[in-house]
Amino acid sequence: MSELVIEGLHARVSEREILRGLSMTVRSGEVHALMGPNGSGKSTLSHVLMGKPGYEVTGGTVTLDGVDLLELTTPERAAAGLFLAMQYPTEVPGVGVAEVIEEAFVATGRDPSGVPALLASEADALGIEPTLLERSLNVDLSGGEKKRSDTLQMAVLAPRIALLDEIDSGLDVDALRSVSRRVERATSQGFAGSEPLGVLAITHYTRLLEELHPDFVHIFVDGRIVESGGPELADRLEASGYAAWIN
Ligand code: ADP
Ligand code: MG
Repeated sequence: MSELVIEGLHARVSEREILRGLSMTVRSGEVHALMGPNGSGKSTLSHVLMGKPGYEVTGGTVTLDGVDLLELTTPERAAAGLFLAMQYPTEVPGVGVAEVIEEAFVATGRDPSGVPALLASEADALGIEPTLLERSLNVDLSGGEKKRSDTLQMAVLAPRIALLDEIDSGLDVDALRSVSRRVERATSQGFAGSEPLGVLAITHYTRLLEELHPDFVHIFVDGRIVESGGPELADRLEASGYAAWIN
């Protein structure tokens, strides 16, 4: 079993403290929803966990299966089993999805020869047009297509823990459903015999949670978790908005 353990995390960007003492643990097979208003620091959290330059960790610890993630480079964190679907996926002209995944396989000592077949079958499961796989990474893709492409990459890379930053944005109802079903299947079955996936799903809408059923819901305001609970917390949020948690 894998676990991502975040304890007392503080981080700043451009001299401003954005994360202010965040603690949570995500284990294999669990789906955690982190919900917070715009600007509360959700994407900052995803960037800090993945090691994006420009973010300074000023306190706390992050470990994945006991390994200090904060000491690792971004590729090392990915190799350790952490995956991030970014809120705004980067466009990379001239580089195809298959090339990216094959490079990742080679970098982590896996045989890349099965990648095209894996991509084709996962694309089918996610309702992605095969021609889309031939385009440059995220170039000229609609918002929803980028999110599906990110889910596809996750499914083929087979991480231990996935951070999904607003994977719901830009998705229509059908796409939201197919993405959620794929993520859910990974959290129950893992990838090709691996342990089940642990998920930290970041969102500000409860809509995602109707499709991707979380085990835990965390209300995140001003850089820290102000309340944690089960799915009923999302119902309260839907009824009252974030006002009840913002003073
Ligand atoms: P959320 O994803 O919850 O909407 P973000 O983590 O994107 O929030 O942003 C939190 C705060 O941090 C915002 O006020 C944002 O302007 C600020 N911020 C994030 N990244 C940077 C950056 N690179 N430089 C300056 N400010 C930033
Ligand atoms: Mg964000």
